[in-house]
Amino acid sequence: MPDFDYLKGGLLTPKYLIHKWVPCELCDGTGRNAQVDLSCGACHGRGGYPVQVDPEASYFVLRYDADPNARAALLTYSESIRPVNDVLADDLLRALATTEDRFQAIMATLPVAEPE
Ligand SMILES: [Zn+2]
Repeated sequence: MPDFDYLKGGLLTPKYLIHKWVPCELCDGTGRNAQVDLSCGACHGRGGYPVQVDPEASYFVLRYDADPNARAALLTYSESIRPVNDVLADDLLRALATTEDRFQAIMATLPVAEPE
């Protein structure tokens, strides 16, 4: 169930940072220290680390199945990109259409703000 996290936090919230998985060099991505048959101490048994794809780049991630503002942004982006990439524009519209039922179901669970 979504936590409606678009209602809180700013652009530097970790949820908006894009990461990739880098295998641990010490355990070769296994998460195990084979010499002592224990969990790798360097990566704590995870086998790697999440690192930012490009710390200098600027991204903004949209959860368009649960956030009405994200859906509006995706629709606007689709219109903007269409002159140079109609395949992407159509894919974005299709993504909105295929998530419409889920979006409506999620919106039906949106907590109602208490009057002050
Ligand atoms: Zn490791």
